[in-house]
Amino acid sequence: MALDTALTREAVFIDGSWSAADGGGTIEVTNPATGGVIGTVPNCGRAETERAIAAAYKAFPGWKALTAEQRGTLMHKLCDEIMANLDGLTRLLTLEMGKPMAEARGEISLGVKYIRFFAEEAKRVYGDVIPSPWGDRRIIVTKEPVGVVGSITPWNFPNSMIARKLGAALAAGCPMVIKPSELTPYSALAYGVMAGKVGFPKGVINILTGDAAEIGAEMCENPVLRKITFTGSTRVGKLLAGNAGKHMKKISMELGGNAPFIVFDDADLDKAVEGAIASKFRNSGQTCVCANRIYVQHGVYDAFAEKLKAAVEAQLKPGNGLDDGVTQGPLINEAAVSKVEAHVSDALGKGAHLKTGGRRITGAGTFFEPTIVTGATGDMKVAHEETFGPLAALFRFTDEQEAITLANSTEYGLACYFYTQDLGRTFRVMENLEYGLVGVNEGVITTEVAPFGGVKDSGLGNEGSKYGLDDYLNIKYSCIGGLGF
Ligand code: NAP
Repeated sequence: MALDTALTREAVFIDGSWSAADGGGTIEVTNPATGGVIGTVPNCGRAETERAIAAAYKAFPGWKALTAEQRGTLMHKLCDEIMANLDGLTRLLTLEMGKPMAEARGEISLGVKYIRFFAEEAKRVYGDVIPSPWGDRRIIVTKEPVGVVGSITPWNFPNSMIARKLGAALAAGCPMVIKPSELTPYSALAYGVMAGKVGFPKGVINILTGDAAEIGAEMCENPVLRKITFTGSTRVGKLLAGNAGKHMKKISMELGGNAPFIVFDDADLDKAVEGAIASKFRNSGQTCVCANRIYVQHGVYDAFAEKLKAAVEAQLKPGNGLDDGVTQGPLINEAAVSKVEAHVSDALGKGAHLKTGGRRITGAGTFFEPTIVTGATGDMKVAHEETFGPLAALFRFTDEQEAITLANSTEYGLACYFYTQDLGRTFRVMENLEYGLVGVNEGVITTEVAPFGGVKDSGLGNEGSKYGLDDYLNIKYSCIGGLGF
């Protein structure tokens, strides 16, 4: 299927205009479901990034000076445009990333909810008047946009990862320079097409593709850019956080996870299976909040494993995301397939048992079978590393304290899940898990109205909710004297 020409640009969007890379270099984009090249995008570096940052800086005073309602009106227009193009954007996302169309449609619709939420939330950026310790002075606290923001996003949610950053930045009054993953650039560039059409001022939204290290370095070092918001691996996040720190820039970091999914003896097993399928296999296991370690209490271990196997075999259908009935798209590339393969063979080599799946799917594209292994143990790779693929590894535990200790035995702290019908246990476990997001009897919990962020090596800051806007605002204290009292 060809790219939709109305929404697709093989150029970068700087200061309201489309252009090639300075040196004319390009990067090929492939469809992971077929391995075929679907197009090229510019391979930009520092010079183009510097121009994009300069354009955003020029746009900053005008954008900041608009009222929240004026900014919000444009943001709602952008959302209307996204929804008017939902079919085309869905196909584009599936072509470049591979996820099934129904999931792509859901992702784009959720992105719109984030932008609309922040468009309204901007009206509630309240300050404070603090009782003054001086009779003749007044203390006023206001919140101001941080300035130009650089955004770097991954390939697994090519649309919504941008939406949740862009929505907050625009609402706060910050222009943005966006760098999507080179693997999925078209969903990002489509924002430029739509922003231009609905009348965003030049320079408020800029979108660059190219050399990640060069673009990242310019964002960290350019003094005009005041904040970096990043979603991706912990390795790159630490690199960017370190470099941004040298230039004292604000950062938001949404990084990797290694989510535990705990099933207690008293759980509703059918609900737990439903949650495990959604949490583990959505996006073919390529989400940062995917269950990675499934801990099942001794008394229900075998029953849960059987029910999960039956559900996986009955419900999950790998294939090209453009085809009807497909629930499991390809993995993003060959490296991703090799990683799942390595985790499976490491687990089996250390004594795990294969319950279903276990192999790459041969033929075109980068597919792996939905897989379950039982008898997983703490010395296996899957216990320590994010698999980022369709491998459900079932670990056995005996009591509540052991489950909490095992769940916390990782450097990550993004999402965790547990299933129980005991109210006391709900609070004990919830309060003792060292994670930013907790799903209790639920396997998918993301919504624009709630904060989304990790602790430990999973990052800093939050996206979504009223807390998400704070990450794009500075606090200013003004002391007003000379009042003639
Ligand atoms: P990644 O390799 O860190 O890439 C993420 C982004 O960083 C891409 O745009 C990439 O560009 C760019 N990048 C790579 N090297 C860079 C550098 N030296 N300087 C600046 N930017 C650089 O991560 P990924 O493999 O694409 O994504 C998967 C990871 O993201 C997983 O660990 C997942 O858990 C995490 N994630 C976290 C969240 C969250 O909200 N916490 C959400 C989704 C995903 P190129 O692709 O063009 O090289």
